[in-house]
Amino acid sequence: MTTLRPPVLFPLFAKVTTLPGIGPRLVKLVERVAGENVVNLLWHIPAGVLDRRFSPKVGDAPPGKIATLVVEVLAHAPPPPRSKVPYRVTCGDDTGKITLVFFRGDGDYLERMLPVGESRVISGKVELFDGRRQMTHPDHMVPLAQIDDVKRVEPVYPLTEGLSPKVLDKAIRAALAKVPELAEWLDPAYLARQKWPSWREALRAVHAPGDEDALLAMHPARARLAFDELLSNQLALGLVRLKARVRRGRSLVGNGILRGKVKAALPYALTGAQSRALEEIFADMASETRMLRLLQGDVGSGKTIVALMAMLAAVEAGSQAALMAPTEILAQQHFETLHPLCTAIGVRVEVLTGRVKGAARNAILEDIAAGAVNILIGTHALFQKEVDFHDLAFAVIDEQHRFGVHQRLELADKGDGTDVLVMTATPIPRTLTLTAYGDMDVSRLDEKPPGRMPVDTRLINLERLDEIVSGIQRAVAKGGKAYWVCPLVEESEVIDLAAAEERYTHLKAVMGAKVALIHGKMKPAEKDAAMESFTSQGGAQVLVATTVIEVGVDVPDATIMVIEHAERFGLAQLHQLRGRIGRGGKSGTCLLLYAAPLTQTAKARLEILRDTEDGFVIAEEDLRLRGGGEVLGTRQSGLPEFKLANLMAHGDLLAAARDDAKLIIARDANLETPRGQALRTLLYLFEQDDAVRTLRSG
Ligand code: ADP
Ligand code: MG
Repeated sequence: MTTLRPPVLFPLFAKVTTLPGIGPRLVKLVERVAGENVVNLLWHIPAGVLDRRFSPKVGDAPPGKIATLVVEVLAHAPPPPRSKVPYRVTCGDDTGKITLVFFRGDGDYLERMLPVGESRVISGKVELFDGRRQMTHPDHMVPLAQIDDVKRVEPVYPLTEGLSPKVLDKAIRAALAKVPELAEWLDPAYLARQKWPSWREALRAVHAPGDEDALLAMHPARARLAFDELLSNQLALGLVRLKARVRRGRSLVGNGILRGKVKAALPYALTGAQSRALEEIFADMASETRMLRLLQGDVGSGKTIVALMAMLAAVEAGSQAALMAPTEILAQQHFETLHPLCTAIGVRVEVLTGRVKGAARNAILEDIAAGAVNILIGTHALFQKEVDFHDLAFAVIDEQHRFGVHQRLELADKGDGTDVLVMTATPIPRTLTLTAYGDMDVSRLDEKPPGRMPVDTRLINLERLDEIVSGIQRAVAKGGKAYWVCPLVEESEVIDLAAAEERYTHLKAVMGAKVALIHGKMKPAEKDAAMESFTSQGGAQVLVATTVIEVGVDVPDATIMVIEHAERFGLAQLHQLRGRIGRGGKSGTCLLLYAAPLTQTAKARLEILRDTEDGFVIAEEDLRLRGGGEVLGTRQSGLPEFKLANLMAHGDLLAAARDDAKLIIARDANLETPRGQALRTLLYLFEQDDAVRTLRSG
């Protein structure tokens, strides 16, 4: 889709290669730390400062401190050939001498940088070695004329291996030089009350911190940029939601017959939380406004049956319903759970994933179009144009954190005023719910079905692998079933897959045919076979899996969960994985294997998991330990990642941004006033192009 990004922003959305000094080699490194566009460098804000203003005489320079010294270059002492001795350069002033030390120093370069007999400004940490002052690899060595470039408070940016601070600093200065003057989008009264600078001034100030205090989250310049980011987030959510709301919904009221039959057939009674959530959902369905509701329930809280009951209400009303899952395995599993229940009451349910092909696919598609299929389950394949519903009135999106806001609306577009229920097992803290969903209605399953058994969670050093393997072997001999999860991250996918395969081979060598392997690179049929074998009686008893088993897979007689390199997982993800066991009335054991040594934070995080099974406590603690940006392994969870705002520190600003966004939408929903026009630019600046697209042109 094209973007109508205003021309004034073009320089900021140019590639970083348009900046001086960023060639093909460096571009990869800059992209890794910041991003591919100039604007990403603006958002790459300092994490610290180095104060280089201290400029004593050499004789007074205290060891251990950063100092900027004005010296005369006295002599070079290159090391003898092939020796490991560093290259030394002696410098000094009238009060004393200091030796500059360069390991593997390039003599030609150093002679050019430090000509004997000339004055130079050097800056770095002063050290004492054998009673003499020295400086190892000075950070700066420049002619006297450039002293002001060095003698200042220098911002310190997060770096990556191979990227020098100087190169990054230069690129950021160049990016700042491209920052245009933009019309103010904040409410003038609010701006004045906060005593914040303009956007442009704020950016400059953030990248030129005068002291440590300038790094504080509530420093005016930082707070201003954080608010801008939060406002763009809240406004975008508000606009997208407005669009969804504006299209009229329809009243769906069933006669309750199908629901009654299912309820009678279930081997259990619904929990109070499930009944409450259903009442809220039925009320939304019955109303004329379109439903957009989030069903939040910890793993194992019983969301599937809630989804089924809601879909049945739509079927009773004579319409179709769809359930969308993030992976084929989950879609298949939902189908297998719901198929017997539905068939027994004469409701036709089908599954449509990428693997249903040819004639079978065409037949299902025809029946969907004719309305003969009542409930359709699938993955994102449901988005495809070929899927043409007869009358889709209700859509459920499971584990939706993998789907973007836009995708959600796309599915809803398949029907006429389709009601949407979004289900998530991610125990999102309140603050994050707001940033991810705006003011969406929320139902919570805050009560677990009875019969859930506690899981004994232990942290174990990976070095004790052999003991663990024999423990699993004993459990398997007694008929137990275990998941064995290996980490898999995209960046090191090949290595990770190899590690998982190696673990599989190893376990198979020890336990024989009782081990199965499943990972994302396998063919659908192979995945099915592995899952099938693990689910059935007499099949595999150990399932080695990369995280593809993910959330949602239900094998009630599995009681053991081993997670390798637990330190590499997000807490929420670990919690979800652990939720796979302790079902079916049997208590479970979860072994979190970690590679030592763990950092303090990593240890504290895993300990939270060991000490509680409450998903919300885990999420809140994770947020506290890690701050907003990385919470819950945000990358996996698809929650918005903020570059400037920190939800721990800027929680109040988030509330203010939400209120402001509401007011804006109430007064100027199409962003047509002068402030509205400026807000459009804000949305583009933070790449909320989708949200601007919901507006009428203007
Ligand atoms: P999730 O919320 O993680 O999707 P599921 O819907 O998969 O949870 O439910 C987990 C298990 O709990 C399933 O085996 C389901 O049959 C069972 N279950 C759901 N509701 C109840 C209930 N009210 N009482 C007892 N068991 C239930
Ligand atoms: Mg589920």
